[in-house]
Amino acid sequence: MMIRRPVRYPGRSRLWIRSTPYYRRNDGNTSRACNLSPAENIAAAALLPREGKMREASRLKNQRKIRVAISACLLGAAVRYDGRSKEDPVLVRALTPHIHFVPVCPETECGMGIPREPMRLEGDFRRPRLVTHHSRIDRTDCLEAWCAVRLGELEAENLCGCIFKTRSPSCGMRHLDVFDEKGMSARNGVGIFARMFMERFPHMPVAEEDSLYDPVIRDVFLRQTARFHRERPHV
Ligand code: SF4
Repeated sequence: MMIRRPVRYPGRSRLWIRSTPYYRRNDGNTSRACNLSPAENIAAAALLPREGKMREASRLKNQRKIRVAISACLLGAAVRYDGRSKEDPVLVRALTPHIHFVPVCPETECGMGIPREPMRLEGDFRRPRLVTHHSRIDRTDCLEAWCAVRLGELEAENLCGCIFKTRSPSCGMRHLDVFDEKGMSARNGVGIFARMFMERFPHMPVAEEDSLYDPVIRDVFLRQTARFHRERPHV
């Protein structure tokens, strides 16, 4: 792992931090990847314990933050069907001071691969099937089996909320197209992962990413997650 060391650049009074070719080995010591002066070595060595403390402080700070699951593509992970992300830096920046994100991508994590054929919801809008557009492969059972396991793991994550990606047949929370056998659609579906998540955690605050652009709704969501955090039984 790369660590950082302080460097005083000529003509600058403050100490600048830049990346160095120091790597932490598995045994906890460091290896040097280029020649440094003795003074630079001493400075880097002095920084190691401090860096450890800072990392520990940051870990504790993250532990104290409210934990919220989020569709991984919103955090910038390139997990969408086309191999891209749907990063939302504005939203993430607004929420990061208050929330520790737990990224989840149902389609990738259940083994559908990247890139993959796009899918849509079909059949009964209360329990629709997830079917690929062209090859007509039904992925519902695969996704539901994965959800049953993953939701159990998420229960142990002490989550206080979830943010879903809008209009995804897996993560979308509402108003999704569900096609009937004639190819007609009604905008009344819920994504499969979102439906199973809300069934498993019926009282947990949830929101779709686009609704959180509204500062009032965002504030309400944050208050709800904070209240859920306060009132949940802690083990
Ligand atoms: S919307 Fe959900 S399933 Fe689709 S890429 Fe994003 S996290 Fe994965």
